[in-house]
Amino acid sequence: MTALRCGALVTGIVTMAPSAYIPRHLRQLVAERATFRCEYCKLQQELCPETFEVDHIIPRAMGGQTALDNLCYACPVCNNAKRSHITGQDPQTGRRVRLFNPRQQRWYRHFRWSDDCGYALGKTVVGRATVEALAMNRPRIVHIRLLWAAMGLHPPSEGS
Ligand SMILES: [Zn+2]
Repeated sequence: MTALRCGALVTGIVTMAPSAYIPRHLRQLVAERATFRCEYCKLQQELCPETFEVDHIIPRAMGGQTALDNLCYACPVCNNAKRSHITGQDPQTGRRVRLFNPRQQRWYRHFRWSDDCGYALGKTVVGRATVEALAMNRPRIVHIRLLWAAMGLHPPSEGS
């Protein structure tokens, strides 16, 4: 497994959790479109030991299609937290809103980084609800972001 991960780092070939219903070529397209970052928390695949996954933004159980405009690249933690949710509660206003949709919305319109770059902060009701619902500031990832920031690997540019 370690050799595979190292190989992925060297070659840039993406290895994702097996999924019976998302064809390999589609998974590769989703990963490349996302520049190999989680489209929710912006974690970079090449800096993580976990294999990233492809998320159905609108879950299949709710009629979401396995098509590029309904798929996004997600780290396992975001994907697991999101599951079949499409809405979340804004902790500031209490409003329940649709979660961030990477296909229809721009990340930097709804989120920003804290001054030390450790925390993803919601700028809008959608951003705040998504940060909360996906636990985007879990302690380990905040620690990792701070380390990456010290190494100049974080935050990603606005185009990423
Ligand atoms: Zn993530």
